[in-house]
Parts: sequence; C-alpha cells; structure tokens
Amino acid sequence: MFSVSRVLLTAVMLATTSAAVAQTELPPIPPAVEESYAKLAAHSEVAAVLAALKGAGARMFEEQVRINEIPAPPFKEQLRAEYYLKKMREAGLPGAYIDKEGNVIGVRAGTGKGPRLVVSAHLDTVFPEGTDVKVREKDGRYYAPGIYDDALGLTNLLTVLETLSKSNIKTVGDIIFVGTVGEEELGDLRGVKALFRDIKDIDGFISLDGVGLGRIVNHATGSHRYLATFKGPGGHSFSAFGLPSAIHAMGRAVAKIGDLVPPADPKTTFTVGTVNGGTSVNAIAATSTIGIDIRSNGNAALIEFEKKVLTALQDAVNEENARWKSDKISVEIKQVGDRPAGVTPIDSPIIHAARAAMPRVGAQVRSITASSTDSNLPMSLGIPAITLSSSGTGGGSHSPGEWYSPVNNHIGAQNVFLLALALTGMEGVTAPVLAKRPAR
Ligand SMILES: [Zn+2]
Repeated sequence: MFSVSRVLLTAVMLATTSAAVAQTELPPIPPAVEESYAKLAAHSEVAAVLAALKGAGARMFEEQVRINEIPAPPFKEQLRAEYYLKKMREAGLPGAYIDKEGNVIGVRAGTGKGPRLVVSAHLDTVFPEGTDVKVREKDGRYYAPGIYDDALGLTNLLTVLETLSKSNIKTVGDIIFVGTVGEEELGDLRGVKALFRDIKDIDGFISLDGVGLGRIVNHATGSHRYLATFKGPGGHSFSAFGLPSAIHAMGRAVAKIGDLVPPADPKTTFTVGTVNGGTSVNAIAATSTIGIDIRSNGNAALIEFEKKVLTALQDAVNEENARWKSDKISVEIKQVGDRPAGVTPIDSPIIHAARAAMPRVGAQVRSITASSTDSNLPMSLGIPAITLSSSGTGGGSHSPGEWYSPVNNHIGAQNVFLLALALTGMEGVTAPVLAKRPAR
C-alpha cells in the first residue's frame, strides 16, 4: 500500500486530502442495510462466531508472526504462498490453489444464487531478499519489516475463513479468499490484474491492507512509473570535449520536470525518485537513467500530466543536442508501473455496508479516503471495491522500523466477518447487500 495518510490521524484528516470525504457529506445508510445487520446480530450462529473471534487475539498474533517471518520480497512470494495455501486448506478450503501468477485462491461457495465477493490481502512486502524479518518485541511493540503491511491483513483473512468454516453459516453468495502477489512497488499489481483477467464474474472486492480500524479506502490513486535512459556517445572529458552528455541531458530533464505544475484537484503529484549513470568523473557520460513516479486521483489528469513529463524528456534531449550542435543524444522511455486510478462511489452498497458494520464491532469510521492498493484495479474496472485497515496500532510501513501492537486485534477480524456476511447474505436469514453484476 502506498498510503496517502497515516492511520492515527483523527477526523482532521478528512479535511486535508482532496479525495477524503467529510463525514457530513456522507449519504445516509439505507434502512435495508441496517436491517440486515440487525437480523445477523440477532442470530445465535453469528453471535457465536463473533464471540469466538473475541477470544482469538493471541492466536491471531502468533499466526501474524509466523507469516511475517517467511520472507516475501517482490517477485519472490512463493515460500509464503505455499505456507498460506497450506493454511487456507487447513482452514476449510481443501480446493484452494495457487494460480499462474502466484496468487493463493480459495473459494468458499455459497448457495450459487448470490454475488461473488473477493476478500484479499497481499503476500508480498517491499523489503528485498535478505532482509531480516524476525519479529522483536520492545515496550509492547513488535518490530519487523512487513509486520502489519501486510502480515496483519493476511492473518485477519485466515482467521475469518477458519472461524466461518467452524460455523454452520451458509452464505448466499460466494466468498473468494485471495492472497495476492505483486501489490508492492514494481510488482505493479500483477496479482490482482491476473485475478480479474482470470475470474470474470467478481461482483465486489475487499482488500485488507494497513493498520488502524476505521479507515475505508474508496478512491484509488493511480500511478504511472517510468525509467528514462539517456544515451550519448560518451568520451574523454578533455580530449572529447564538445560532445553532448547523457548526464547533462538528464539534468536538463530533471529541472524541466521539477518546474511542472500539476493540477491540485484531482490531486496529482510527481517525483524523479531515482537517478544513476556516468562511468567516471573525467568521462563524458554515455548513459544515465532516472526513475519517475507520477500519481493522480483521476485517470484523465494522470494521463494529461504524464504527457507533459514525457514532453519534458524529449525537450531536454533536443536542448542538449542543440547546445553542442549535435544529434547524438537520445532517450529511451520505459513504462515500469501502471496502477490505474478509480473510485467506488460513496453511495455504493459496499460502502454503506462497511460503514454500518464498524459500530457493530465497537469501532467507528474515521476516514474515507484515497490510497494506492490492490483495490485500484477493480475500482478502475467499475467493480465495487474498498480497502480496509485492520485493528491494532502500528507505524513505519515500508521502513525497517515498521512496528505493530496487537491491541484489540480481534476486532478487525470481527469487522471483516460481519461485512462479508452482510454483503454475500446469510442463507435463510438475510439477502445479499452486494448486487450481482450483469453477466459480462
Ligand atoms: Zn500493503
């Protein structure tokens, strides 16, 4: 997850980022949704599951540590995927499998007459191979790279599956439990892209990603990433002086990009995040490469602004060539990231259901906002999707100092259980809140 906000922010956050929704602007939750929850809450089987989850906190955290201590760097999630597959099968889905892309998928079938809901969490972390992922406790905090991003989401998903499997609850719709690969960085959402490429009849999507219950992501910040490699003849800095330089061209490009002004709404941002190149201080550089990240809360704005960045690259090349009356500098532009933007409308049933579930487990909606997660993909396809953070406290994601404290960590699992049940419907008790989408 590339979070727009740190979860510990209170309602203040609602006013800051343009995509955040002020509580006062929230549409009323339809009575039918509240009625569904009232019926579920009154049902003894549901009450039994919620009680079982209430006592699961310690066991859940042990599982979170086990999952986290299996490294899962980008493009190297297999080891963790195999463990997760074993756990999914033990938790009641013997038919669970690993797909071609490496996702772990298990379907808990409903009666067959209902919607198909995906509940997912991502297997990968941002941390490269060799990172020490051992969990260490200090002053009630548990430190380890990836401890909540996304070992916490993976644990909540498994716990809900396990507890459901032990119950007699039958859902009307199917719940598809998924451990995705490639959510982070250059993984470029390859797991969730494969999931929607392969399974065409998904009606709703929930990603469990992040810490601090109360945050609902309904807006996908899109991002396009590029590597631009400038190439030139190179040469001795003294004897070949007068030749254009790949680094000088790169420098012109960075300056031009740096001066671009993106739209404020939808929030659109850019950065030249990495630079490298050159062979030695006394050589005219033959190559240099920059990594560019462009993001926006709107697809049109993303594409519009991207054009300006790409033009700046070519202008820089032309300028460096002109400076030396040459044509030997060129630039090779490669797109290395495509996370589409999108939004799940605030008056969607999936958001109504998510808002209504939280008070029933003793939590409250704290923010409805934008971020870049696995939900980007279904949102960009117009499929109802949200990303939820889980309970407990934590901080420092994407840094070696990432930490988590399992305070009331069971509540996140209770929330997901109740929400998934309301969305897919409970056979003989409630109708699904999630609509079945027309066949595609
Ligand atoms: Zn994440």
